[in-house]
Amino acid sequence: MLKGKTALVTGASRGIGKAIALELASSGADVAINYSGSAQKAEEVAAACRDQGVKAFSVQADVAVEEDVKAMIKKVTEQFGQLDILINNAGITRDNLLMRMKEEDWDAVLDTNLKGVYHCAKGASRQMMKQRSGKIVNVSSVVGVMGNAGQANYSAAKAGVLGLTKSLAKEFAPRNIQVNAVAPGFIETEMTEQLDDTTQESLLQNIPLGRLGEAAEVARAVRFLASADADYITGQTLQIDGGMIMH
Ligand code: NAD
Repeated sequence: MLKGKTALVTGASRGIGKAIALELASSGADVAINYSGSAQKAEEVAAACRDQGVKAFSVQADVAVEEDVKAMIKKVTEQFGQLDILINNAGITRDNLLMRMKEEDWDAVLDTNLKGVYHCAKGASRQMMKQRSGKIVNVSSVVGVMGNAGQANYSAAKAGVLGLTKSLAKEFAPRNIQVNAVAPGFIETEMTEQLDDTTQESLLQNIPLGRLGEAAEVARAVRFLASADADYITGQTLQIDGGMIMH
């Protein structure tokens, strides 16, 4: 399905990003695994992708830092010769009620989750415009759609990603670059492991399908949006949330 395509997945050493990288590789894409922390974990994901018979390597960059992102895009395009798919997945949380939220926690979450998407989309689209084709998939969150007490920074960033997705979809459409977002609900990863049992219980009551999602379920939806099957879809947000939000 993605044979001959090349992809960059940010924050891909664990969780949803790792699942996306493996899903794209199993569909035949060559994959660059971005990480900001442990090189070893990212290299393990790259090795697992190579086991699928594709090219894969890990590449360090803090997505919040413009120079890091520029160097990363340069490395990826040099190694692969092209860049067809960008998955903006890297994200963090720094939860607190607004009155207790420190400015540094606001800035850190906005810088990684929103400015990071701006940096990566800007870098990747330069190459995609030359190719006159490309797919960008941004990982937002249901929290960006519905808000969440204690996550003002995170919900603002993730809602910002949805606005950015629509604007870029319009801006890049003449160059045949599709830009879409996914909004996962509550997915079993190290991010949601931090939630206490009471919070998990109350969450489940609001999920019609009655369970948390799996990273692989998000990855399959991302793979669809990154494929030619989604050539006529742009500026959309696909919710992968077990039915939590229905418009
Ligand atoms: P995770 O914490 O397991 O993974 C996030 C990854 O991003 C990590 O590998 C981390 O090292 C990387 N990262 C963080 N800051 C970075 C930076 N500045 N530069 C590069 N990489 C960076 O979390 P996850 O649950 O796998 O989340 C992945 C994405 O999905 C995030 O954008 C998150 O907001 C979103 N999301 C998660 C859930 C969920 O329930 N887990 C729900 C909705 C949306």
